Amino acid sequence: MAYGGDAGGEAVAGRGHNAPCSNRDFDFFYRGLEAEQLLIQKCGGCGALRSLPTPACAECRSFDWQAVPVSGEGRIHSFVIHHYPPLPGFETPHPIAVVDLAEGVRLVAAMDGTAPDDLQVGAPVTAEFLRRGDVAAYRFRLS
Ligand SMILES: [Zn+2]
Repeated sequence: MAYGGDAGGEAVAGRGHNAPCSNRDFDFFYRGLEAEQLLIQKCGGCGALRSLPTPACAECRSFDWQAVPVSGEGRIHSFVIHHYPPLPGFETPHPIAVVDLAEGVRLVAAMDGTAPDDLQVGAPVTAEFLRRGDVAAYRFRLS
């Protein structure tokens, strides 16, 4: 059985400050952000892509997976405009979108920097990478 990335002691030691919710399932994702890549789990048993990260495949129950890069291109599936409570590092109103990636999985991300009135379900978006202080992050922008 192989675990994607290098989950285990090395991952914990190397995850640094950028992963406030980091654990063995999520560390690969944060390492991808540090390299300005969006990484998604791909099942080693059946090839299914999945997001959010999980230890096992919901399709075939395999624990074998690899982290594969995705394009960051997609369309808004849904969105909310966050008003309250304040989130450190974000101004309100703060748009947050659920995006259907071209590869067929969904990601949730901030869309700060985009006017809330410009968001529409179905609008094309592109991921962009940024730093929030010391934290490697991503957000979506309208394409
Ligand atoms: Zn599978």
